[in-house]
Amino acid sequence: MLADADRIFTNLYGFQPWNLSSAQKRGDWDNTKGLMAVGQDAIIDAIKASGLRGRGGAGFPTGMKWSFMPKDPQPGRPSFLVINADESEPGSCKDREIIRNDPHKLIEGALIAGYAMRARAAYIYIRGEYIREAEVLFAAVEEAYAKGLIGKNASKSGYDFDVFVHRGAGAYICGEETAMLESLEGKKGQPRLKPPFPAGVGLYGCPTTVNNVESIAVVPTILRRGAAWFAGIGRPKNEGTKLFQISGHVNKPCVVEEAMGIPFRELIDKHCGGIRGGWDNLLAVIPGGSSVPLVPAHEIMDAPMDFDGLRDLKSGLGTAAIIVMDKSTDIVRAISRISYFYKHESCGQCTPCREGTGWMWRVMERLREGDAAPEEIDLLLDVTTEVEGHTICALGDAAAWPIQGLIRHFRPELERRIAEKRGGLREAAE
Ligand code: SF4
Repeated sequence: MLADADRIFTNLYGFQPWNLSSAQKRGDWDNTKGLMAVGQDAIIDAIKASGLRGRGGAGFPTGMKWSFMPKDPQPGRPSFLVINADESEPGSCKDREIIRNDPHKLIEGALIAGYAMRARAAYIYIRGEYIREAEVLFAAVEEAYAKGLIGKNASKSGYDFDVFVHRGAGAYICGEETAMLESLEGKKGQPRLKPPFPAGVGLYGCPTTVNNVESIAVVPTILRRGAAWFAGIGRPKNEGTKLFQISGHVNKPCVVEEAMGIPFRELIDKHCGGIRGGWDNLLAVIPGGSSVPLVPAHEIMDAPMDFDGLRDLKSGLGTAAIIVMDKSTDIVRAISRISYFYKHESCGQCTPCREGTGWMWRVMERLREGDAAPEEIDLLLDVTTEVEGHTICALGDAAAWPIQGLIRHFRPELERRIAEKRGGLREAAE
């Protein structure tokens, strides 16, 4: 359980204004120049020592990612930091709260992270539907420029650093890092084949690191309080605090900062007032945004909510967007709806995803109605494994995994629907 004193996002609920003077009272932009003065490599080493892993879902060590950037950018080939604020995964809404209520943590983090990786500028790519949040972000960036915190000689550090805000246009796939780079360049947002990786060939062909909003916004506090402080929270390899977004059938849905590894039941009881109708009414949980497999109630109760704890359950922490479903949920319909989402959002570039997502959704719909043949359950499972790992980007995996989780844990429910429908048809014919 996280002590109040260990919370990074002290204005998560917007009880105070987001603006610069209020942010400074909360400690943001305090001696930023001093934080930068330790040097670029020392900052990267501190982030490595803190154990911070990417908060956008993949969980890749942040400091290591920064260390892939060139140490001596060539003239005419600057390095860039791109901040992924496209947050479009169903269930995810944490970055929205940071931008709405604590935007200066993100902008200060952008400067420090950009400096550490020798970047010339940061581009914050914010999803098109976040209209009010984009307004806050534009205004906060303007405030930071006006006070000399970013721009020429940013925060009197001697380092020039620009921050640009770019609004997306509503495509989920632009949250994929290379599709985001394409979109920033003014092209259709379609993922690129990797390699080359963005650290070598990224935005405008220049070295680029793409980081999630939360990963960047926690950086100034980690440096102020020390890597050991952050590493002392959570569990080994799953260190630090994390924003959890809990939606669905809990008594009080919320976004909350907690220690990584907090047990699921404790998280829900402490912050959400428990499960609607009591714990016996819990059916299943999608613990990390719509792209990870669901976990049934009996398995998730005492699970540590972190990368490794959920991987052990054949699921994932993802963005820590926790979707709670009680026994009133039509679980087949819920997963079918997710299948439709991925079918709709596929960019259509590669065949297994373009054809497979539509095919999987159509079979899911027939399973929902009980109209499928019994052998189609295994056929569907087989097709998910043909899509998984055979596409340009991870959207194909994201479409396959929720269905795999459904079949793994709720096969009897699928079989029951088919048997019931067939029994009903037989009775009608007799
Ligand atoms: Fe596009 Fe899907 Fe291929 Fe990703 S996996 S590149 S979304 S078609």
